[in-house]
Amino acid sequence: MSIRSTPAPPRRASEPRCLMQGFDPSLSYAMGDDRHLRARCRCKLMVAVPIQQWLDQGLVGHRLSSLADRLRCQCGARSVSLEVWSGPADPQALAYGGIYVFR
Ligand SMILES: [Zn+2]
Repeated sequence: MSIRSTPAPPRRASEPRCLMQGFDPSLSYAMGDDRHLRARCRCKLMVAVPIQQWLDQGLVGHRLSSLADRLRCQCGARSVSLEVWSGPADPQALAYGGIYVFR
């Protein structure tokens, strides 16, 4: 544990960051107002993913890696990586589209 002589500057709340550090959480990890789910395709497209549809299907305990093949990208990819990010989903990222929930 380190002691700082000066307090760190407050982090901007509007600055999202990835909450996944090399582990594969379940869908429940993406729940909450302080975080959101993103899909990142190998074509570099990234969009926010609404999770309600999957929650309605009872998939809350499923690993994010097992949900990757439920997404389709406009580039033709049939599997898209999922990441949990801090903060609310950016409305612009949601509106952009290009990746959609297939099932
Ligand atoms: Zn793609």
